[in-house]
Amino acid sequence: MSNTKRVYTFGNGQAEGKADMKNLLGGKGANLAEMNLIGVPVPPGFTITTDVCSEYYSLGKDQVVALLKPEVEKALAGVEVLMNSKFGDVENPLLVSVRSGARASMPGMMDTILNLGLNDEVVEGLTRKTGNPRFVWDSYRRFVQMYGDVVLGMKPVNKNDIDPFEEIIEHVKEEKGVKLDTELNVNDLKELVAKFKAAVKKQTGKDFPDSAYEQLWGAVCAVFDSWMNDRAILYRKMEGIPAEWGTAVSVQSMVFGNMGNTSATGVCFSRDAATGEDQFVGEYLINAQGEDVVAGIRTPQQITKEGSQRWAKLAGISEADRLANYPSMEEAMPAIYKELDAIQTKLENHYKDMQDMEFTVQEGKLWFLQTRNGKRTGAAMVKIAVDMLRQGMIDEKTAILRVDPIRLDELLHPVFDKKALKEAKLIAKGLAASPGAASGRVVFNADDAADWAASGEKVIMVRVETSPEDLAGMAAAQGILTARGGMTSHAAVVARGMGKCCVSGAGTLKIDYTTKTMEVDGLVVKEGDYISLNGSTGDIFLGKVATMEAELDADFAELMTLADKHTRMTVRTNADTPHDAQVARKFGATGIGLCRTEHMFFEGEKIKAMREMILAEDEAGRRIALAKILPYQEADFEGIFEAMAGCPVTVRLLDPPLHEFVPHDEKGQREMAEAMGVSIKVIKQRVDSLHEQNPMLGHRGCRLGNTYPEITEMQTRAILGAALALKKKGIKVIPEIMVPLVGIKFEFIEQDTIIRETAAKLFAEKGDSIEFKVGTMIEIPRAALTAAKIAATAEFFSFGTNDLTQMTFGYSRDDIASFLPIYLEKKILKADPFQVLDQNGVGQLVKMATENGRAVNPSLKVGICGEHGGEPSSVEFCHRVGLNYVSCSPFRVPIARLAAAQAALRD
Ligand code: ADP
Ligand code: MG
Ligand code: MG
Repeated sequence: MSNTKRVYTFGNGQAEGKADMKNLLGGKGANLAEMNLIGVPVPPGFTITTDVCSEYYSLGKDQVVALLKPEVEKALAGVEVLMNSKFGDVENPLLVSVRSGARASMPGMMDTILNLGLNDEVVEGLTRKTGNPRFVWDSYRRFVQMYGDVVLGMKPVNKNDIDPFEEIIEHVKEEKGVKLDTELNVNDLKELVAKFKAAVKKQTGKDFPDSAYEQLWGAVCAVFDSWMNDRAILYRKMEGIPAEWGTAVSVQSMVFGNMGNTSATGVCFSRDAATGEDQFVGEYLINAQGEDVVAGIRTPQQITKEGSQRWAKLAGISEADRLANYPSMEEAMPAIYKELDAIQTKLENHYKDMQDMEFTVQEGKLWFLQTRNGKRTGAAMVKIAVDMLRQGMIDEKTAILRVDPIRLDELLHPVFDKKALKEAKLIAKGLAASPGAASGRVVFNADDAADWAASGEKVIMVRVETSPEDLAGMAAAQGILTARGGMTSHAAVVARGMGKCCVSGAGTLKIDYTTKTMEVDGLVVKEGDYISLNGSTGDIFLGKVATMEAELDADFAELMTLADKHTRMTVRTNADTPHDAQVARKFGATGIGLCRTEHMFFEGEKIKAMREMILAEDEAGRRIALAKILPYQEADFEGIFEAMAGCPVTVRLLDPPLHEFVPHDEKGQREMAEAMGVSIKVIKQRVDSLHEQNPMLGHRGCRLGNTYPEITEMQTRAILGAALALKKKGIKVIPEIMVPLVGIKFEFIEQDTIIRETAAKLFAEKGDSIEFKVGTMIEIPRAALTAAKIAATAEFFSFGTNDLTQMTFGYSRDDIASFLPIYLEKKILKADPFQVLDQNGVGQLVKMATENGRAVNPSLKVGICGEHGGEPSSVEFCHRVGLNYVSCSPFRVPIARLAAAQAALRD
């Protein structure tokens, strides 16, 4: 262990790390190194590896500090040389920031400390050196505040209290009669520092450390500790980031954006993270530091002139007012802007992806502090990938792999109905921070959002601004609305990452947390009132606005075409109605993999005939009822076949337990008694006799068709009769009849025989015929185990992975909720096996059955039709084991198409 390298330095165009060392150095550390190597100006520093974070949690604080000490002191000495100053020195001090950084970016989740190295003596020295006491004391009060919060544990005493330091600041500002932090003078800042320190002592009992090294070790350990704070844990859970990864710590010499009016700090994106538009966008603040831009304390200014004018128009600010008070960086600092623009282009070209960057200007000199591949909305993900392909920056493979299939979901979601929008009452406008259409009841804090959502309410979370503490509430809400903060504010960045609708910076809203109301132009919106947000325009409406299906754009179509070009599997849909079939076709489904016939029985007259069939005393009675059902079924199939003309349609024979269809209430039973001319007592008895202890394992699936063959006969007639009728009209139908719940080959052989005999009879009657296939679902483990036997007769297999999962695990699909959360928490299960295919268990049955089935029947077509057919990791598995197709719900079809192409490309 003693030979392990724990610290990697960077500075002055050199670095020990590089971009592909994210696992060891964290994203931030690796990119700080890389930026050095490609000639971007970055303040020098060093990164402590993520492995040390693991050591921290196994060995503990003291031992890790002892292990690190020699390397850190050496690295720091190197920085001192480059910066020509000394850490801890009074007259010529080196100040540093201590920054966290995991492999995957977790914006704002962990803690950063700036201006470290200051104490009561050093501030005097630094004042003498810079001649700028305001800057020095502003830095000091920020340091005491951050260090007090992060390292010394100064948190609000009660959950709903405001931050103790903010409370002090508010107090002092009120006393001095000023509004902005920047209006506080040196004496006010001195007062703040004194009050902060006193408050720390009072609340935590700890003295504020004066020694620079003591401060440094406290900060390094606090960053490691922050890996395990509640919000970081929650974020990791949401993003699926393992706790084992750990965070790196970067220690970097400070550059100061708060040295006066030639200094500034900002955040920018090489393309628009909300829409994907190829446009440089960003925000900055003059004479500010660190998180000021993101925190929404002052209104940030736009970087480009164009962006600034657009922003002013939205905010209702005149051109004169804009130029005087909120000029763009392009206008206010043209030379710096040019340099910034050149570097952002360079970084995007270097990483070949959209970059999210942080920078600081110190007295006219530009420094980069961070770059990373920017988080973006689903729409931006598609647009940027397709644009970069067109621009020749990336190839087709990269473009396809760049888009997270799950995020396509956002593009398919409903948008506001255009007609309803015209009538909707617009109450205010904010920034279009993250697209989407959201309606819900207003709540004013994260806890309420989570509580209301848990009880089934759709909510919009309204905040003055959000902070990482609000994460759970944001996740639970339909949309997020803030009064403060720009396009790079916490709310905007996190919402885009979640694919959640967000309108930020709606400055005309007056939000009052105590009365739980917001007021705009005299209109008061109370907690629980409905509002609607358009995250694509920034519009805020009163009430609920109706939605309609989304329209898909050309970029989306191009991505899908590209996916189909590189895919091997095809994608079908699970659809029971012509409407669903049409929607799925529009999304690119090339057939129906599962059409459930039972859903057709619940409408109108059909259910009566069905009940009559079930309640009939004998075969003769059943046949009478089935004859009534036949024309309905035939009409239903015609509708679906027509919607899927030219594509295969797999129809599953009747599957659910019969008791699901019969009336359990007095009124329904009386109706049936009258219709069938028997007493209600007889009906009651028959209903009771259908009761099963364990219906999922009872009289269902092909057990129905094998005990009542006349049902299979009728359904075969309906399927093939419909196909023949359409054939006459010149419509091409490719019917596939699927036998559910087979466990023994004879179950299948019996059904196959009935189907083929019925078909022969029908074809003879009609003097016409049509090709069709007969196959089975593999959804009982025994069927998978005996696949070779079944495949001798079956023409296709379709894995019903919902039942197969249920029966392989022995988990009831309907009852898993009682223990699943605990199993997930204890990591007994990695994911809900009903959502994500269990590749090691259930997946092995799929693999084995496919291989064994094909061994006896090489032309066996194999697909999957469970929920898993639209889940990317499961789709990839299906590709690997050689399935011909996956079938999923209509809205998942594009996701499956992309996932299938990605699987083929990774292969
Ligand atoms: P996060 O991961 O939350 O973005 P960072 O480590 O990036 O945290 O720090 C937040 C902000 O602090 C940065 O965006 C930057 O503005 C400021 N900052 C960090 N290190 C320095 C530094 N060495 N000099 C000046 N500003 C810094
Ligand atoms: Mg950052
Ligand atoms: Mg099933």
